Amino acid sequence: MTRLCVSLTGSTCRRMIEDMQAAAAAGADMVELRLDCLDEWDPSGIDMLLGAASRFPGEVLATCRRAAEGGHCDEDETVRVSRLEHVGLSDAIDYIDFEYESLRASPNIRQKIALVCGSRHGPAGRPKRKLILSKHEIEATPPWYTLRFTLDAMGREGADVVKLACRAGSIVDALHMLDALHYSVPARPTVALAMGEAGLITRVLARKLGAFLSFAALEEGREAAPGQVSIERMRGLYRWDAIGPETRVYGVIGCPVAHSMSPAIMNAAFAAAGIDAVYLPLRVEPGFEALAAFLTGVLRRPWLHMRGFSVTIPHKQDLLRFVDRRDGVVEPLARRIAAANTLVIEPGEHLDGADAKVSAYNTDYRGALEALCEGLACRPEDLRDTPVAVLGAGGVSRAIVAGLRDWGCRVTIFNRTRDKAEALAAEFGAQARPIEDCARHDARVVVNGTSLGMWPDVDASPLPPEGLAGRPLVFDTVYNPMETRLLREARERGCATVDGVAMFVRQAAAQFELWTGRPAPIDTMRATVIERLSA
Ligand code: NAP
Repeated sequence: MTRLCVSLTGSTCRRMIEDMQAAAAAGADMVELRLDCLDEWDPSGIDMLLGAASRFPGEVLATCRRAAEGGHCDEDETVRVSRLEHVGLSDAIDYIDFEYESLRASPNIRQKIALVCGSRHGPAGRPKRKLILSKHEIEATPPWYTLRFTLDAMGREGADVVKLACRAGSIVDALHMLDALHYSVPARPTVALAMGEAGLITRVLARKLGAFLSFAALEEGREAAPGQVSIERMRGLYRWDAIGPETRVYGVIGCPVAHSMSPAIMNAAFAAAGIDAVYLPLRVEPGFEALAAFLTGVLRRPWLHMRGFSVTIPHKQDLLRFVDRRDGVVEPLARRIAAANTLVIEPGEHLDGADAKVSAYNTDYRGALEALCEGLACRPEDLRDTPVAVLGAGGVSRAIVAGLRDWGCRVTIFNRTRDKAEALAAEFGAQARPIEDCARHDARVVVNGTSLGMWPDVDASPLPPEGLAGRPLVFDTVYNPMETRLLREARERGCATVDGVAMFVRQAAAQFELWTGRPAPIDTMRATVIERLSA
């Protein structure tokens, strides 16, 4: 089973000992002693550290990473190796991680490491530490064939484990790293990780693909390498303990995407429904080419079991173009809105994924309509002829206007930029009016589709309080904060209100149902969002 290894980067031995205890409590299978992070080399402190390491319930790995490969040790190689020799004498250390390039550079170093690690070059019959031979490319990911070549070459050196960590320039680099892992694992214990935000999939899916280990930070802000995730996030948010070879993979594609709430809500939903799946944030750079390169890469790798994605800014229009190019299916209203936020992937028979089927949907309008109907305690068909004021003419307003017009509402759009309101109104058979007129408009329902009132600008509101009295329902799509100034003032004037969380949860629930064919655990999803917002 893939070990979850916490990198200990304390600057003193005492701090590392405390962190080791915290890592054990957090459920780490292994710790990495990053000896290069120590401020000074104090032999008595090191002995204390080794004493503590011998009591660690899991395995212990020691590294003294050189600066050229992303570490902090800029000492002479002889000094660096002597430190590893020192700790390597202790039974507390199970693995030594040493750089392939340094091993290749000097027969003397090769011999010393062999003596510590008892590789095939060392004296027979002496059980020693095991050797992890590693290579770190801290600037960029080399081509895929170089990744495989390097793993094979390290394997030929007699390493017990081979490890490759490269900075991912894009998520496609991360796919190449997953390829390298998939290729190497049957031959030897392997670690292959992509560094940086785009590399997150390699850290979490390491377990699915049977890697030797994946690293985690003890806590946020204490990452030992770019893109490392805390152990709490790995185990809590990304379902590390539940991941296995058959786990299906979903995610949210966007840029930026790191702060998306979707991984929390979807992973909680999969856990509550007992579904073997994980959902990850997937940073895909802006532009159709970047989106198409990632999605094509996903379809060509059916062994990743990627079955669907949420798609957010800036890729919602480009998703339709991609699905059309693959001769996939686009839901009619998503086609009319000209934006989709959900991709469903049905695998085919071909090993290269050539016959996989893709389809695109827009669940924003469904989420908004369901939330609105719940607020009015009515069915969508009861909405016919209801006068609705939509504030805003951006992406969210577009989906809402399309949905409302589909059910026969009389929609008037109010937007700061009048041209955009008029263009949207003309497209969907609605009216457009200057934003100042909204307070006097006879709408029974007011929907805020602008970003006004969103954190941190929480004192802003798109409508003065006098424009709210007498409206049966005010619906704000902004969900952070949950109670916006608009909703608070509406409630104080006796209006029923619907918050943005209701829409967010329902659009996510619709995605869950499209992917799994099962009813979404909506209460769990809502509770997860509320918990995250209150945190
Ligand atoms: P968008 O395409 O950028 O549109 C933003 C809209 O807000 C435009 O109509 C813009 O008017 C208006 N606006 C921005 N600043 C304004 C200001 N200072 N005064 C007046 N109007 C202003 O963004 P979007 O994708 O539609 O998202 C809008 C909001 O919807 C987000 O902020 C988010 O809170 C919410 N949302 C909610 C959910 C959910 O599930 N609940 C999902 C997605 C988004 P102009 O045209 O004049 O620029």
